[in-house]
Amino acid sequence: MPNASTPEQPIWTIIELVRWTTSYFRSHQLENPRIEAEILLAHVLGVRRIDLYLNHDQPLDKKERGYFKALIKRRLSGEPVAYITGTKEFWDLTLVVNPAVLIPRPETECLVEAVLDFLKIYTGSAEPVIMDLGTGSGAIALALAQSCPTARVMAVERSAEALATADRNRQRHGLADRVHLVAGDWLAPFKADRPLWDVIVSNPPYIPSGDIDGLQPEIVRYEPRTALDGGPAGLDCLDRIIAAAPACLHPGGGLFLEIGHDQLPAVQRLAEKCGAYRDVACRQDYGGHDRVACLVRC
Ligand code: GLN
Repeated sequence: MPNASTPEQPIWTIIELVRWTTSYFRSHQLENPRIEAEILLAHVLGVRRIDLYLNHDQPLDKKERGYFKALIKRRLSGEPVAYITGTKEFWDLTLVVNPAVLIPRPETECLVEAVLDFLKIYTGSAEPVIMDLGTGSGAIALALAQSCPTARVMAVERSAEALATADRNRQRHGLADRVHLVAGDWLAPFKADRPLWDVIVSNPPYIPSGDIDGLQPEIVRYEPRTALDGGPAGLDCLDRIIAAAPACLHPGGGLFLEIGHDQLPAVQRLAEKCGAYRDVACRQDYGGHDRVACLVRC
């Protein structure tokens, strides 16, 4: 927000600030300058984005301008908008996020869609039990619980801070009775003699370690590396889950994994090596990249 170059005692209205901040963000090469300007301003004013336009000629007071200016600075220093506001929209949910959890991505909604499509044709159970491994903010588990009212969902997470965030999110959305949280590492918390599940879903870390530092600086500097780093080829966690899942799934049950755009052949090889899946299908994201591997247990 300009100081020196503005007229004395400027009265900044909402719309003027949206326009000014959009071009300021654009000049700093931010990818979504208008949306980010709107999200930050709406956060400062405690309103929805749409309200900015309904009240476009409303002026900001000095305190609001000071707060907004501080947030603009944080954004320009690289901090992701979602960590600044502490929330991120995913599916129909507004989720609490913080640097202990990965910021849910729109691509991950394809994973949720793949599971819901599978459940439409799945005949194994009318009240499916779904397991979300590495739940982070709880994004996938909560989206599935919300969209499939008959499902029972368990969400596993080894980071205590992330688990606390998932807990806040399930309370916030009134889903605490249907989404159970389990502390632990992938499938390790579960005994061999427990009942089998219908679906296992996960968005595990799948980025090759050597590629992490080449990601956008705001990802590398702010998001949890453990949520991204999938080992030398990015396949460590995918391998573990693919090998362990069949022992936990009903015959005909499904394993749904978010994967990197070039990892489908490797995932097919891992599924073949395991020998317990009868089918491996793939779903692409909105950008046309392979994004979700769908494995059906024999
Ligand atoms: N399941 C969470 C999500 O999809 C976290 C995933 C992760 O940390 N790799 O957003």
